Amino acid sequence: MSERFDIVIVGGGHGGAQAAMALRQLAFDGSIAIVGDEPELPYDRPPLSKDYLAGEKPWERMIFRTAEAWAERGVALRLGRRVVSISVDARAVTTVEGDAIGYGQLIWAAGGIPRRLTCAGHDLGGVHYVRSRADADRIMAELSAAREVVVIGGGYIGLEAAAVLTKLGKRVTVLEALERVLARVAGAPLSRFYEVEHRAHGVDVRVGTAAQSIVGENGRVAGVRLGDGTILPAQLVIVGIGINPAVEPLLAAGAEGTNGVAVDGQCRTSLDGIFAIGDCAEHANAFAGGARLRLESVQNAHDQAAIAAKAIMGGAETYSAVPWFWSNQYDLRLQTVGLSIGYDAIVQRGDPASRSFSLVYLRDGAVIALDCVNMVRDYAQGRALVAQRARPDPGQLADPGVPLKTLAA
Ligand SMILES: Cc1cc2nc3c(=O)[nH]c(=O)nc-3n(C[C@H](O)[C@H](O)[C@H](O)COP(=O)(O)OP(=O)(O)OC[C@H]3O[C@@H](n4cnc5c(N)ncnc54)[C@H](O)[C@@H]3O)c2cc1C
Repeated sequence: MSERFDIVIVGGGHGGAQAAMALRQLAFDGSIAIVGDEPELPYDRPPLSKDYLAGEKPWERMIFRTAEAWAERGVALRLGRRVVSISVDARAVTTVEGDAIGYGQLIWAAGGIPRRLTCAGHDLGGVHYVRSRADADRIMAELSAAREVVVIGGGYIGLEAAAVLTKLGKRVTVLEALERVLARVAGAPLSRFYEVEHRAHGVDVRVGTAAQSIVGENGRVAGVRLGDGTILPAQLVIVGIGINPAVEPLLAAGAEGTNGVAVDGQCRTSLDGIFAIGDCAEHANAFAGGARLRLESVQNAHDQAAIAAKAIMGGAETYSAVPWFWSNQYDLRLQTVGLSIGYDAIVQRGDPASRSFSLVYLRDGAVIALDCVNMVRDYAQGRALVAQRARPDPGQLADPGVPLKTLAA
């Protein structure tokens, strides 16, 4: 075995980097290595579809720490190394190059892999995904030659990319196969608001419309064919249709899991000495009524990293953090708190036309989530309502003049 560390963290993204730091903050004094397949120092991923893509955030401000700072904290970085298998008996991971790295305990923080198009033309040049710095750099390198861009998928990443590219002067079309954008994550009023906003900024938003195939010319994308035969001209296609959890080696080693890898309240997998955190970890979430799910957010990656680190240090704390998320599009800052899954009523606070409003999601009269657009105060104060599953008077809740903190228990 070429190397051995007390803790090996697979994946140098949000969860992996945070787990290493959390262990050091808890005074863990054993050896730690992060083994990540990207060549870059661990960095902040959300700007890839926001200010980094817009050319407004330099790379130096994306990394969490310099190489020296990682070394000072005693965290060995093994970057550009992809783990392809795990031997639970030998307590070692193996990289694609065939190197074995031994571990005392393993934290799997490998995130997700963008879901790929499978239609004809999916592999043409100019068809891109947005998950890594390399992805964003490839898009940016081709931008100057693109007048028309088709974004496939009206989720957060697709819409953020559409906002950036439209600001950069591109003619952007967003194709969303479902009847509204953000359909999987938000209520209809929020979807309609963003559709109106994007159209007002010149984006051609087409809902209920799927790409049938990608049309090519000399190996590069030239357009996107729709079901009715229309071809939308495009020199660049950006695909944002979700991720698949990156867990193959773990499942092959025998870990349980159907949607990612299953973890308990302390982020332990079913395999001895192996934890999993972040986008790939399927857990029971108290804010979804105990339903088992994966969350794809910085909050979840960070908080699960802290829980796994505490468990390694012998703590008993279990994961119960209030979920939160944000998205920046144009001058709109969306902040969400809680999980709206399973809501049966939505109360609107403020007028979407003012571009500053909130949606409060209720289930059986209890607040389960808020989506706040340019409404920092509601976001900050609404958190307590979600945490307490408060049952405010609907009339007061709908009045934006009533501060949410007065409605908490
Ligand atoms: C473009 C974009 C915008 C986003 N915007 C927001 C936002 O506004 N707000 C928000 O809360 N969240 C946002 N997210 C989601 C957020 O970035 C993720 O939830 C978070 O990064 C998850 O952390 P993670 O550690 O689980 O995975 P990641 O940060 O993805 O890190 C996983 C790392 O593991 C590596 N890896 C995978 N497999 C292997 C392997 N076999 N061997 C070695 N390394 C491996 C990956 O390459 C990657 O570097 C965004 C994500 C993207 C892609």
